Amino acid sequence: FCLESSELETSLSGWIKVEAPEMMGKLGKMEIKEGSPQYYFFQNSVTRKDQKGYQNIAIITLPNLPNGRVAIGGIAFDADYLRDQFFPDALNRLLAQDIGEPSGNKNGENEAVMMVHMRKENAPLAVSKGWDGGMPEVERNFEDGFPGLTLAIKFKGTTIEAMSHKFIMTSFLIIGCLSVFLTAGILLTYRNVYREMSLAKLKSDFVANVSHELRTPLALIRLYAETLEMGRLSTQEKYQEYFRIIRKESERLSGLINNILDFSRIEAGRKEYNFRPTDLGELVRNTLDAYRFQIEQNGFDYQENIATDLPSVQVDREAIARSLLNLVNNAIKYSQKEKFLGVNLFRDNGALKLEVIDHGIGIPRSEQSKIFEKFYRAGDPLVHNTKGSGMGLSLVRHIAQAHGGRVWVESTPGHGSKFSMTLPVNSTPREEGVNPA
Ligand code: ADP
Repeated sequence: FCLESSELETSLSGWIKVEAPEMMGKLGKMEIKEGSPQYYFFQNSVTRKDQKGYQNIAIITLPNLPNGRVAIGGIAFDADYLRDQFFPDALNRLLAQDIGEPSGNKNGENEAVMMVHMRKENAPLAVSKGWDGGMPEVERNFEDGFPGLTLAIKFKGTTIEAMSHKFIMTSFLIIGCLSVFLTAGILLTYRNVYREMSLAKLKSDFVANVSHELRTPLALIRLYAETLEMGRLSTQEKYQEYFRIIRKESERLSGLINNILDFSRIEAGRKEYNFRPTDLGELVRNTLDAYRFQIEQNGFDYQENIATDLPSVQVDREAIARSLLNLVNNAIKYSQKEKFLGVNLFRDNGALKLEVIDHGIGIPRSEQSKIFEKFYRAGDPLVHNTKGSGMGLSLVRHIAQAHGGRVWVESTPGHGSKFSMTLPVNSTPREEGVNPA
C-alpha cells in the first residue's frame, strides 16, 4: 500500500498542476452550494499479485489556510482493507438489520444476501455472509463514496422467479386438489342421491309386488272356499281339485310370508340359524318330494341327480330348504317355452354343491350380479309380467354366506340359467350366522 501510495504521489505531482484549477473549481462550487469544505471521491484501480483491486481516493480542500493559499489534500483507502474488511462488515451490519430476515420468516429460508462488484465486472468484489453466487435480483450504483462500484442484493438459495414459480405451482396444486375434492364431492352426492332414488323406487315396487302377491292367493283361497261352502260341486274330483288349489295357494302364501319374515330379520340383524348335522341329499329329496308332482304337472321335464354317500353337513335345515325352494320356484317362474328343471347335488372340492338348472329366459351378464341384491328384478318384460318381490335371491345369498358357502349364477339369455350354491363340508358356520348379528 505504501508503495502504491508513493507511486500515486509521483504520478499526482506530474499532473496535479494541470488538474488543480479544475479540481479547485469543482470543490469550490460544491462548497458554495453546501456551505462547508467539501470532498469528492474518484476511483483508482491497483494491481496486486496480478489481480486488479478497487481503491477510492478522496480529494479534499484544506480549511483555514492563510489568505490566497490553495491546498488540496488526498486520502487513498487501501484496496485490501476495502475488499476484506470494510465492505463485508458494512454488508453484514446492514443485513443484520431488518432487511436480513423478511417478516414472517424466522428459519433462515429466503434470507437476503448482498455483494458489491465493480460496475464493469460481474464477479463480486466483496460479499456478505451466506452469499451463494448466482445472479442478483436488484442492483444499484454507488453515487458519491464509491464511484464505479455497484451494490447487489438477492435471496439466498433462490431467486424471485423461482419463488414466484413455486408460489404459482403451489396455488395451482391447491386449486387442482380443491377441484378434485369438489368433483369427487359432486360425484359422491350424485351417486348417493341416485342410490337413494333407486332404493326408494325399489321399495315402492317391492310394496306393490308383495301386496299383489299376497292378494292373489288370498282371493283364490277365498273364492274356492266359498264355492266349497255352497256345496254345489257335482263330482268328488272337483272337490279334490278345489282342496288342492286351496292347499297350493296357502303354501305359496306361507312361502311368501316366510320369505318376508326372514328378510326383515336379516335386515334387522336378528336372523338366527339353527345348525345341525344334516344329510343334505335327504333334505333336498324331501323338500322337493312335495313339489315333484306339481312340477311335472306344470309340464316340466324334471331331473334329479343326488350323489350317494354324501357326508353330513352342519346346516339350518329350514333355511336351506327355503333357499332350494326359492331357486326351484324361480326356475319354474322364469321358464317360458322350454320347460326343464334339473336339481343336482354332489361333492365338489371339500364342499357340497347344489345346482338348480333351467332352460328358461336366462339373465343378461350385466344383471347377473345385481339379481342377488335386495328387491332387484331384471329389466326383461317377461320378468315384470311374472309375480315376484325381488327378495328370494338376496335371502339365498345371505343363507349361503351364513353357512360359509356362496351362490352364483351362470346364464345365457334365451337358453337358461344354472344357479350353484356351495356348502363347505368341514366348516364352522359364520359367527353372525349363529348369533344375532
Ligand atoms: P323375484 O321375486 O323377482 O323372483 P328373486 O330375488 O328370486 O326375486 O330374483 C331376482 C331376479 O332375478 C328376478 O326378478 C329375475 O329377474 C332374476 N331371476 C332369478 N332366477 C331366475 C331364473 N331362474 N331365470 C331367469 N331369471 C331369474
